[in-house]
Amino acid sequence: MPKLPRWWWIAPVLLVVAYVALQTQSTGNDLRYDELLAKIRADQVQSVVLEGNTVRGELKQGDDRARAFTSTRPEDPRFVPLLEEHGVRVRAMPESRGSWMSWLWMLLPLLLLFGLFSRLAAGAGGGGPGGALAFGKAKGKIFTERDVSVTFEDVAGVDEAKQELREVLDFLREPDKYRALGARIPKGILLVGPPGTGKTLLARAVAGEAKVPFISISGSEFVEMFVGVGAARVRDLFEQAAQAAPAIVFIDELDALGRSRGPGNLVGGNDEREQTLNQLLVELDGFEPLGEGKRGAVVILAATNRPEVLDPALLRAGRFDRQVVVDRPDRAGRRKILEVQTRKVPLHEVDLDAMAARTPGFAGADLANLVNEAALRAAREGRDVVTMADFSAAQDRVLAGLEQRSRLVDPEERRRVAFHECGHAIAARLGGSDSKVHKVSIVPRSIGALGFTMQMPERERRLFTATQLRAQLVALVGGRAAEELVFGEASTGAADDLRKATDIARAMVLEHGLSDAVGPVSIERRNTYLGGVASDLDVGPTVANAADAEVRRLVEDALASAKALLVRERPRLDAMVEALLEAEVLEGDALDRHLA
Ligand code: ADP
Ligand code: MG
Ligand code: ZN
Repeated sequence: MPKLPRWWWIAPVLLVVAYVALQTQSTGNDLRYDELLAKIRADQVQSVVLEGNTVRGELKQGDDRARAFTSTRPEDPRFVPLLEEHGVRVRAMPESRGSWMSWLWMLLPLLLLFGLFSRLAAGAGGGGPGGALAFGKAKGKIFTERDVSVTFEDVAGVDEAKQELREVLDFLREPDKYRALGARIPKGILLVGPPGTGKTLLARAVAGEAKVPFISISGSEFVEMFVGVGAARVRDLFEQAAQAAPAIVFIDELDALGRSRGPGNLVGGNDEREQTLNQLLVELDGFEPLGEGKRGAVVILAATNRPEVLDPALLRAGRFDRQVVVDRPDRAGRRKILEVQTRKVPLHEVDLDAMAARTPGFAGADLANLVNEAALRAAREGRDVVTMADFSAAQDRVLAGLEQRSRLVDPEERRRVAFHECGHAIAARLGGSDSKVHKVSIVPRSIGALGFTMQMPERERRLFTATQLRAQLVALVGGRAAEELVFGEASTGAADDLRKATDIARAMVLEHGLSDAVGPVSIERRNTYLGGVASDLDVGPTVANAADAEVRRLVEDALASAKALLVRERPRLDAMVEALLEAEVLEGDALDRHLA
């Protein structure tokens, strides 16, 4: 069935209106009553049809169009006798036809309402695949993919998550084996991790590996739906899954619809979302993962990057009680993702290992973006291979926005930026941190940063000692230290550095118990997946004040150390700044010479 436009139902209604209008707007001349009487008296009227108070008729003269007339008569006892008197042919009609039309008029608003409601109902109820009349079809669309081509091969660097999902594959493939053993299968599996780490990709890969349909919907779309539609759509989702079984149901961005129903939510009137969430809980509870009888298994996957806001009811046993963490990749993982992402890209002497080393913190999606940018650059320059230079440029671009060499920079400002960046580099190299400085640049970017210093840990770390963190602080405030030292005062250029330094110092004091003054207690908990918003401090004012003072002391100490270091290394700093102002970018051997 072809898809009808949104306002399809307006068309028949308009037709009815037009028809009725034409009917009542009778053909012929409209005569006033006195004109009609005059014509009858002048013997000009051939015949009339009386229908209620309407008089339609024909005159004796003129062609067909000119002869027809209509008029309306008052209650006049002389009228019919007058007709008789002048020999006019009279036909009387029952009033029903007239009232049929007035009925239509009265029904019109009802028709309109009916049209509207049937649209709403179609959107809420039907709306399965092919349900052409669905209201708000674009929103909350249930996608059904039958032949997913993504496999585990396409997802790299998340081996632990893959391992856990292999089990799911097994019972999608051989549900009987599990049925026979009476095993309890996890109903819902929640993929948890930062944005861009491949959660959606993984879910599709499970469907692709198991060769089952992938039925998906995004939680954020539920939120925009009309009242009652969300709940109906959830019902649909599970119905479709049951029919397609064995299948995978995937709810992306579960947090959007599964947000905790706290007292705070009562105020805003989130009835709709609550209904949707309740429906989801109901469906989850009533669902049999292995299906009954001959029906195949259905596995429900969901993804979120904000597990902490989910309603606890969702995470209870028998619902999304299995969580799979999809974390940012480590260096080896990044190398594998780069391999996957460059499978179809013709590379020329590109060292993916080096690229992996230079991209800590990048998620899979960032790496995909990097590869794409590199390929775009090669294409722009008319080459048919992508080189390491493309990757370097792409990385700068992905990291800090577009390069704008042409932008004029005030020479004094440029000097300040050069000192700032070299301050970072020297403080990082000689301030006790074990990370290596890869690149120093004063090429201005379109977004914010006037320059940057790229430093990377020599090896991936999971644990940091207080000494290592203090060294990181020294490196972070090195830029400001150099500015204060050389120009006598700091500038606004160090805001981002200070924010990062403060974050680290705060975490040391409040989270990890790494400061002497506050001691080995953990006061604040953060969402470790996102480094997200800190919760309120659960301590008295004394401890809070002590913690504040301690955070400040840590950053101030770091600044003092960095300054002392730069005073000692002033000749090195000056030489490096000269070289940087000359070359704009220092990396590789040129950089190492200055930092040796
Ligand atoms: P998420 O759902 O976690 O936000 P996506 O699955 O949407 O992330 O990832 C977006 C894109 O980034 C993917 O389509 C893929 O191209 C790339 N990508 C992300 N993670 C990986 C990975 N682990 N391996 C390969 N490619 C990845
Ligand atoms: Mg996603
Ligand atoms: Zn800086």
